[in-house]
Amino acid sequence: MKCPLCNETEAILIYSNAAVPAFQNRVYENKNDALNTPCFPVELMQCTSCGFAWNHLFHPEVMEYDESYQNEQAHSLAFQKHLNDTLGVVNSIAKPGQNVIEIGCGKGVFLSMIRDAGYKVTGYDPAHEGNDPDVVSEYFNKELDVTPGDIVVLRHTLEHVAAPVEFLHAICEANGFTGKILIEVPRFEWIVQRRAFWDIFHEHCNYFTESSIAGLFDECSVVPCFEDQYMWIIADINKLREFTSCKKSCQATVDPNIFSDEVERLKKYVALRPGCLIWGAGAKGIAFANQVDPQGTVLGGIVDISPKKQGRYAAKSGHLILSPDELRDHENADIIIMNENYKDEIQAMCERNPNALLTLGEI
Ligand SMILES: [Zn+2]
Repeated sequence: MKCPLCNETEAILIYSNAAVPAFQNRVYENKNDALNTPCFPVELMQCTSCGFAWNHLFHPEVMEYDESYQNEQAHSLAFQKHLNDTLGVVNSIAKPGQNVIEIGCGKGVFLSMIRDAGYKVTGYDPAHEGNDPDVVSEYFNKELDVTPGDIVVLRHTLEHVAAPVEFLHAICEANGFTGKILIEVPRFEWIVQRRAFWDIFHEHCNYFTESSIAGLFDECSVVPCFEDQYMWIIADINKLREFTSCKKSCQATVDPNIFSDEVERLKKYVALRPGCLIWGAGAKGIAFANQVDPQGTVLGGIVDISPKKQGRYAAKSGHLILSPDELRDHENADIIIMNENYKDEIQAMCERNPNALLTLGEI
């Protein structure tokens, strides 16, 4: 099996899950539709040479990112701070007035921030909602009439594409091999350290380590961010390589049992607390709910601040998504916070509730 990053052929299986929703971030109005969401197997392989991990059973053909895809985290203050920090990175490598292209700009939240900071912007994303004249609702490709960006921004996109190196080359080619690129992806070291099986799902086919992604460029900086969950990679576009230069010496592979052992441990934990709740119906929360309560009979639901998710159902497990106001009907339930970075703001929202709030690091 060839590693998509370094082209070496030795890899080990480090996680498998027979049926994972194709889209973790899609919520359903109707419970039956949620229960019958299309699912696919995930088998995460880790390259023993460069340390990159990928789902070798990924089905790219089912990944249609349309307007029903809800992955916006900008409702959260902690996430807004992260976006501000990311704007700070853009400001450190570019000047207002320059051209910024954002690929996979989602609903355009970050793109608007860059524009408001004085940059000329163009966003590309088929999941874009609305009619922002600066967003092209298409996948970015060289057939489009592209004005090269001084900076190309790729936030939380590269982990979704089946052939990441080819994808990067296509982008860099479409940009005339000029300018700089700023990539933000989840950091696999954090996932391993936390045994975060809830961060492994079908939408993400790629799991980069710092050195495996750094090796894709002759020269670049890698900066962990968002409390080390993510990382920024900043490079000159003309420094992109054919394969990662990262070799065995810089990587250790993961113990293949850590994720499955953690699933079992947390399954037992929630089984002893029927009715307990999860906070966060994003990808992490829905992956977690599906793993620890696949039949949807133990957890009392998933709390989320996004009005677009409340009253709807989680893919596959069918858990109901509740608004924070509905906590009054779950007074005795412990709440497991899916992303500890949001603990302070969740605590503030729950000031009047008697529920115990626990992060995954605490259970
Ligand atoms: Zn490799």
